[in-house]
Amino acid sequence: MDTIDLAIIGAGPAGLSAAIYGARGGLNTVIFEHALVGGQIVLTSEIENYPGFEEIMSGFDLADKMRLQAEKFGTIFIEESVESIVPTGNAGILPADSQKTIDSWQDACVPSSATLKKITTSENTYYAKTIVFATGASPRKLGVPGEETYTGRGVSYCATCDGALYRNKTVAVVGGGDSAIEEAMFLTKFATKVYIIHRRDELRAVYTIQQKAFKNEKLHFILDTIVQEIKGENQVKSLSLLNKKTNEVSELEIDGVFIYVGISPNNDLIKDFIELDSQGFVITDDDMQTNVPGFYVVGDIRKKTLRQVVTATSDGAIAGFVAERYINEL
Ligand code: NAP
Repeated sequence: MDTIDLAIIGAGPAGLSAAIYGARGGLNTVIFEHALVGGQIVLTSEIENYPGFEEIMSGFDLADKMRLQAEKFGTIFIEESVESIVPTGNAGILPADSQKTIDSWQDACVPSSATLKKITTSENTYYAKTIVFATGASPRKLGVPGEETYTGRGVSYCATCDGALYRNKTVAVVGGGDSAIEEAMFLTKFATKVYIIHRRDELRAVYTIQQKAFKNEKLHFILDTIVQEIKGENQVKSLSLLNKKTNEVSELEIDGVFIYVGISPNNDLIKDFIELDSQGFVITDDDMQTNVPGFYVVGDIRKKTLRQVVTATSDGAIAGFVAERYINEL
């Protein structure tokens, strides 16, 4: 393989879709992923709204299908952690020695001018004509006493991973968005009782998800309420709650608590040179183009109205296509 045309950072649905479109369009395409291929959806128990799959499918299975498809078109997966990016200009002039094999992309492939984007991983340095950045977002912390102490000992951010530990037990879910309500329903497969603690008197989750939840007899809603503290000994034992309307403080005994209070963008690698909104999400145009030419941002890290697998794959498809056009036009 020759020079990297398209370097994708992050192998969630957005990154994998960019890879499918880029590699299928003839670009030499590489994905960097240091953790699990699939990103956040592998932590999602059930996906029922991705078009074309009428049967409920696990996030893991869907991600795996996308990975196979990206590989089929020639995408190379590099399991290295990206540590820094220098987004130097556009890729107008390639270094004289850029027609190298994959083995020699690394330190040997030093550009003769500041035209390629430089990617430094834990192990190597790479240069690419374009970058699609798809690192997604991570669960936001609640930020209350006890949260850190009991993480892994009753505090969890992943029902798919830890739900089965709470068979015949009582758990609480904090949050009122799609994730909180869907994952609370998933937890009712194991737990006898699942409390949903939400800070307002109405949920944020979409109507259809709410309707399903209200019919589930194992779910118990505690509204207008915030968690003040997570308490325990070796394991979580209870939550200290404050009702915001009555100011009443109470104690709720539980065996575990799942926190779903939103997401924060994984923007550390790019925040110094890419334009962000006030919450740290990346601002792009309709073509996923950022303020740096040839540098595209896709998926949950992008400022957008709807964060779904289908919008992530759409972002990726656009970026893969636009990257090809950008390279051809140079
Ligand atoms: P979200 O939609 O931002 O909801 C976060 C929830 O946590 C809100 O109910 C919010 O309360 C609450 N919250 C935030 N900070 C809090 C705090 N400090 N204390 C207590 N509660 C707090 O986040 P999400 O549910 O993780 O979803 C993220 C994105 O993924 C959304 O765009 C969502 O639509 C999408 N998603 C879609 C699906 C699906 O379509 N099946 C599934 C999962 C996620 P307020 O309501 O008062 O703000």
